[in-house]
Amino acid sequence: MIDSHAHLEMPEFAVDRAAVVDRALAGGLTRILTVGTDVESSAAAVELSGRQPGGFCGRRLSSHLAGRCGRAELEELVRIASAPKVAAWGEIGLDYFRNPAAREEQRTLFEAQLAIAGDLALPVVIHDRRGPSGPAGGPATHRQGRAQGGRALLLGDAELAADLLDLGYFISIPGTVTYPKASGIRAVAAAVPLGGMLIETDAPYLAPVPLRGKRNEPPSSPTQLARSRASGASRSRKSPGGPPENARALFGWPRG
Ligand SMILES: [Zn+2]
Repeated sequence: MIDSHAHLEMPEFAVDRAAVVDRALAGGLTRILTVGTDVESSAAAVELSGRQPGGFCGRRLSSHLAGRCGRAELEELVRIASAPKVAAWGEIGLDYFRNPAAREEQRTLFEAQLAIAGDLALPVVIHDRRGPSGPAGGPATHRQGRAQGGRALLLGDAELAADLLDLGYFISIPGTVTYPKASGIRAVAAAVPLGGMLIETDAPYLAPVPLRGKRNEPPSSPTQLARSRASGASRSRKSPGGPPENARALFGWPRG
């Protein structure tokens, strides 16, 4: 199993990070993509991926970059992206739900980062959060980027997911798929073929039922993974190995 999106660099794991990684590896995870959300956390994620004391296993932790930042930080992110274990650029995206920045400003930064990721030949990891007034970036925006990557549809939009699959993106299913009111995400999970699906925890956030409300950690509950897979398989068009193979192909990781 591979966790395609977690935030192990976050302070929620400061006390027992090594134990969390040990548990994840013992639980069957072979890789965790640790994701920053700004310059500081991206640097921390890269640093974490290069360390191997205690339970850390460098080759099994990969980091990548993030981008809720201003244009001034982009140069620094490009510099950080030259680290050997950086596997993707992200998470980036548009958030009209919680991010107070102006939409136009967000869109400009998002498009700039899609272009940078393309120049660096890195896949992008996109965070999607729709606000009450509509989708936070439709396929037209993503078509402008040359990079392809994973996209977490946190609120669920099966139509957008289908469009993004057509563009070559993978759709990443988080633990929210187990929440009673998350019918949108379940619809996405049911519609996305296993060949287009990634599995993520977004730890320390989005702990699945029955751990909802607690700190999430990879590999959260097998329930989430089982449900995601089962629902995704129900309408699978193709299944060349499923989420772990997809993650390996996207992030350029060898087996093991
Ligand atoms: Zn995240």
